Amino acid sequence: MAGKEGIVVVGAGASGLMAAVELAKRGNDVLILEARKRTGGRIWTLPKSRLGCVAEAGAEFVHGRAPVTKKLAREAGIALVPTHSELWSYYNGVLEKGYGWMPEQQELMERVKGLKQDMPVAAFLNRYFHGKKYAELRAAVLGMSEGYDAADPKRASMLSLANEVFTDDGEHLQYRIAGGYAALLGFLEGRCEKLGAAIRLGTIVKSIDVGEGRVRLSCQDGNEYFADKAIVTVPLPLIGRIRFRPGIGGRRYAVRRMGYGNAMKVLLKFRRRWWTACRGYDLDRLEFIRSDLPIRTWWTQYPDKVPLITGWLAGPGALGMARKSERQVVEIAVRSLSSIFDVDTERVRKELAGSMVVKWPLDPMSKGAYSYATVGYEKARQKVAEPIGNRIFFAGEALYGGSSASTVEGAFASGIEAAKAVLDS
Ligand SMILES: Cc1cc2nc3c(=O)[nH]c(=O)nc-3n(C[C@H](O)[C@H](O)[C@H](O)COP(=O)(O)OP(=O)(O)OC[C@H]3O[C@@H](n4cnc5c(N)ncnc54)[C@H](O)[C@@H]3O)c2cc1C
Repeated sequence: MAGKEGIVVVGAGASGLMAAVELAKRGNDVLILEARKRTGGRIWTLPKSRLGCVAEAGAEFVHGRAPVTKKLAREAGIALVPTHSELWSYYNGVLEKGYGWMPEQQELMERVKGLKQDMPVAAFLNRYFHGKKYAELRAAVLGMSEGYDAADPKRASMLSLANEVFTDDGEHLQYRIAGGYAALLGFLEGRCEKLGAAIRLGTIVKSIDVGEGRVRLSCQDGNEYFADKAIVTVPLPLIGRIRFRPGIGGRRYAVRRMGYGNAMKVLLKFRRRWWTACRGYDLDRLEFIRSDLPIRTWWTQYPDKVPLITGWLAGPGALGMARKSERQVVEIAVRSLSSIFDVDTERVRKELAGSMVVKWPLDPMSKGAYSYATVGYEKARQKVAEPIGNRIFFAGEALYGGSSASTVEGAFASGIEAAKAVLDS
């Protein structure tokens, strides 16, 4: 039980662990309560024993400049491995090198620049880029909104998407973490242990009451914890699952105004890298494939030459796919790869040595993948992130105000900000 002067952090994902380390470093008594039986939240690195190589069931890449993540990796002595990105596309039955997308990119940029006020991606395309002439452009922009941002284009902000696409932050590579994201989190957990911050797993916080100069956290297992302050880092849709007293006012409505998307991963372990010479191409360096198949995006672990292919489906379609059985999803994946590489389905099936379908939309402790910017998002974000009476603070990828919201970087940065707010309060 945390002492009266202590701070309880709800959630042991990237933001919770980071906040805990920042607070413990400054001599605070910190306790982390985590619902799952593991730490990491939406970071879930699978050990080599599961699929033959270290694999990511959740977050996988380091995007953009990511200064907090890179600093942490340096401190931990963990290498970042650049992805080499040989990109291919498979549309209308044709496999081609490169994505060849955004055919009318200049026109799109001009239109976005001329926008007086933000509007949803789908409405923007319908208004300015309708008709057959723009079919490719529409598909590319919708694919970007759904595929990268896991967003529903009917709600996603066009200005925010354009900002993402057309802004160059100077970092043109993306990276994987050597040993997986779990290596970074392991480093943070080690720091927690050294600094005396305890982590209690399998502990679902059901209600948080503020009164008599302290915070009381009541858990599903009947335990109660008391603290001076609490930082809540649960994913956006789970904030409303906790009963706050006094209530959290307009935050519930604000949460609904923010976007939170779905995504799922299909991890396929093969006996060998059977795809490296197909359709007369040398595909040894192949890394990403974008397609018009039911599971849109595929990637290998290149430059690591292991026989694992990951299928990625994000956006509104991910929920429907997640409702299918694991067997059905794997069969769809096998058929898709058979089409892309023009290899007999039976042969792909025979090469398959294991699989894992990760259904984040159905995960009770994430209820989806990550946040995305909707029209009017920023005001709602600020509302949700507001502390309650200097006692309860909120953090997490969705509540980070910088450009790396939605990512692990954003979650780390948000944890640091929340810890600072607690220390300043
Ligand atoms: C499939 C997938 C792929 C992704 N790919 C990338 C990527 O390549 N790069 C990238 O940067 N980001 C990626 N992301 C996003 C990234 O994983 C998240 O932004 C980040 O991990 C969120 O961290 P967090 O601490 O904010 O939340 P979480 O990791 O969700 O942590 C919150 C914790 O709170 C716990 N919790 C919930 N409710 C309670 C409760 N009532 N009581 C106690 N504990 C509770 C949860 O179990 C969880 O552990 C991906 C996400 C998914 C799902």
